[in-house]
Amino acid sequence: MDDIMIVMKFGGTSVANFEAITRTIFIVGSKLDQKPVVVVSALSKITDLLYKIADSAASQDLAQTTELLGQLRERHVNLVKELLEQSPMIMEQALARVNEICNDLDKLAYAICAVGELSDRNKAILISNGELLSSTIICFTMNAKGIKTGFVDARRMMVTNDSYLKGEPIVDEIAARVPGIISEAYEGMNAVITQGFIASNMAGEQTVLGRGGSDYSASLIGMAIDAERIEIWTDVDGVRTADPRKVKNTKYLEKISFEEAAEMAHFGAKVLHPLTIEPAVKKNIPLYVLNSMNPSGKGTAILRNELIEDGVKSVSFKENIKVINIFSMKMINTSGFLRRVFEIFSENKVSVDLISTSEANISVTVDAGEKIDRLVEELSEFCDVIVDDDKAQVSVIGKNIVRLNGMLKKTFMPLKRCNVYMISQGASFVNISFVVDREELTEVVQDLHDHLFDNPEELETY
Ligand code: ASP
Ligand code: MG
Repeated sequence: MDDIMIVMKFGGTSVANFEAITRTIFIVGSKLDQKPVVVVSALSKITDLLYKIADSAASQDLAQTTELLGQLRERHVNLVKELLEQSPMIMEQALARVNEICNDLDKLAYAICAVGELSDRNKAILISNGELLSSTIICFTMNAKGIKTGFVDARRMMVTNDSYLKGEPIVDEIAARVPGIISEAYEGMNAVITQGFIASNMAGEQTVLGRGGSDYSASLIGMAIDAERIEIWTDVDGVRTADPRKVKNTKYLEKISFEEAAEMAHFGAKVLHPLTIEPAVKKNIPLYVLNSMNPSGKGTAILRNELIEDGVKSVSFKENIKVINIFSMKMINTSGFLRRVFEIFSENKVSVDLISTSEANISVTVDAGEKIDRLVEELSEFCDVIVDDDKAQVSVIGKNIVRLNGMLKKTFMPLKRCNVYMISQGASFVNISFVVDREELTEVVQDLHDHLFDNPEELETY
């Protein structure tokens, strides 16, 4: 596309209710000269509610299913009435559409309830309704406010493989479909709105990108239209040096590199969906994390590596991990052992974070949510396996930190009193990670953050 276009993604809290949506539409309205493609999540907590509906239907709890479906419909119907009070004709149309979506959802939920069985395929259809509802309501409201807005059903253009609940995008197909569909929807319009998270496979069946996937949708769309910029609007002022819910005196980061942002997302910072960076990197599109409650703030810019200074940017952590310790005397002086072990990880689709090995031992960290029973069973056939589930993982992240003189000392000095396991320096130079006992995590990350961000000038590159 020749014109400048930007992607503006609004997360659940930015579209949670009347006030949030009013603010969001105001923000979009101030950027119409840049041809925004608006990508929205479901209203906050609605995807969780849809998961609950799915569970309660699958367990054939008719009363609870009915109750939850009622809550869901009520929240959206009330929102339409509030937002469109001044435009009764448009309100009628919006209510009709919202009720239509809710009726389809009810039908599906009751069908699931009747058989007591829930396939991934039906679950994907069910949980997609949050985004369909939010985008429908916001589209009607934008039009009512005089912003002529075209509606795009993301399932026509976001294509994934057949994994219904964690669809992996087929990037070439997305890149081929998105520009045409968006420019068609833009004809005669001031803006276009679509859904994050939801997609379809090549056969046209519905899929979703996995929890928190709307950021990823936004960056894929940005990549496909060669956007000037991708804006991720959320409820915090940008990316901080650590999670302020856990660590005191965190600082806000004005800019970080694509690589730093990706490492932060992978290693526990909860600001962006971890895969969001990749499509932006491909086309070198800057990403901004912005606060819809404070739209005049600068936010955090995520830019290409050359524009970012060396140095530590973040203390990230994963509070809940498992460490899988694998021992075998056979490992000594044999080849092919590691391959066999990691084949089992891959066959069981268990994703590995940190690895450290010694002569007769491999230790691996995985997210606490990973299902590892079968994996452990298969490994136990030829190794001794011990799983620790009382550990947490800490990562110090920043451009070239692994090359900074004194960085290792500075990282480990404040940790004198606690046990440190599995130290790993990323091959990428941006990450030093290690494992601690979970009960020590709060103290460790605070000490580390105090120490690293108080006197960063002590560090020099060698
Ligand atoms: N609504 C989806 C979720 O809550 C996707 C998103 O918000 O990014 O996971
Ligand atoms: Mg979200």
